[in-house]
Amino acid sequence: MLNSKRTPMLAPPRADKEYDIKVYTEICDGCELCVEFCPCDVLEIDMDTYNSRMLHPVKVIALDKCTGCKQCERLCPTVSIMIIEKEVPQEDK
Ligand code: SF4
Ligand code: SF4
Repeated sequence: MLNSKRTPMLAPPRADKEYDIKVYTEICDGCELCVEFCPCDVLEIDMDTYNSRMLHPVKVIALDKCTGCKQCERLCPTVSIMIIEKEVPQEDK
């Protein structure tokens, strides 16, 4: 476990985007890198679940807080997490 939490400078959340998070639990090592470096506390290790290698994978606990910064995706050593951008239809002004 890391003792300090680094907080990257983030672009402000975009009103025209929403984000979904796909976790490939079978290849997740539960290393916690994404949990530690997510600046918005979106992720947590799922202590109630094991994958086939008897490792606890990460789970999403607060999708609504995700700003789509992709820190987790960039840092994951096993490419187990993916951020999916979705366009939000804008109403005509
Ligand atoms: S998704 Fe990647 S960075 Fe996050 S716990 Fe799993 S292996 Fe580690
Ligand atoms: S993209 Fe990843 S690191 Fe960034 S806020 Fe969302 S879950 Fe956290």
